[in-house]
Amino acid sequence: MELLLEGKAVSKYIKSKFEEKLNKLEKKPKIAVLTLNPDDSNMAYIKKIEKNCSEYGIGFILSITKTEQDFIKELNKAKESKEITGIMCQQPLPRSLFNEINTIPLEKDIEGITHESLGKVFVGEKNINIPCTSKAVIETFDFYNIDLTGKNVVVVGRSNIVGKPLIPQLLEKNATVTVCHSKTQNITDILKMADVIIMAIGRAKFLKKEMIKEGAIIIDVGINFEGGKICGDVDFEDVKEKAYAITPVPGGIGVVTNTLLIENIINSARRD
Ligand code: NAP
Repeated sequence: MELLLEGKAVSKYIKSKFEEKLNKLEKKPKIAVLTLNPDDSNMAYIKKIEKNCSEYGIGFILSITKTEQDFIKELNKAKESKEITGIMCQQPLPRSLFNEINTIPLEKDIEGITHESLGKVFVGEKNINIPCTSKAVIETFDFYNIDLTGKNVVVVGRSNIVGKPLIPQLLEKNATVTVCHSKTQNITDILKMADVIIMAIGRAKFLKKEMIKEGAIIIDVGINFEGGKICGDVDFEDVKEKAYAITPVPGGIGVVTNTLLIENIINSARRD
């Protein structure tokens, strides 16, 4: 491996623009975070966001709801509030709430998850909130000056928050894009032709050296726990000699994702 694609460096660069953006705001950003399932892992994530928000003077309100009715009530309050500039609904949530989440106004959709936001990503509209993890991948390419023009880029995973929103963003970078998923046949043959592989499946250490070509660039979005340790979808130790560049886990895409959520929050306050 010649290049370790460290998220910290990308994140530091993005953060360097925050102060100027915050100073230009007429209104203080304040977000409402809604959860229906306050288990340890969800709460740990929410606490992290709260800490990141406090670092930038961003207001933070947490609503822990017990029923779907309560969730909808709190969501409606946040939608109508003049003070709240952004809304985050902690996933996973029951499918029955998807229609409600879809009613978050464009300017308050800090995660970029409504159909309206996603539709705008697909037609390449600027100045909108893009799902943070997918954007973190693109910001990493930009920061390390990785030109995707004409490259065979294979995305593994087709979720609405990572795999799918990556498609238009990679096309915008002039990549040739292939998307694989759990029903893809002969995935190794496809991966071996890739100049760039983006793994987002949630399967610990799935990608091995036999599955990549020499000099491939590997982006690991996965966050998994194995033997009490955090690891990605890539077997880092196995792949590192053959790949040209890799994002580590932890310390890769996750760090950038958290920073981009703050960027989306600032952008939402600007649009209000
Ligand atoms: P998800 O909604 O569960 O989607 C997983 C995708 O992977 C699906 O499209 C699934 O295919 C595909 N898949 C599963 N097993 C596969 C296999 N063996 N071969 C090929 N494709 C396979 O997951 P997600 O929310 O996109 O998250 C993916 C990973 O990224 C998870 O580890 C998650 O923790 C991590 N993540 C990280 C960040 C970050 O900040 N770094 C943020 C979000 C998520 P089907 O569609 O056919 O089922």
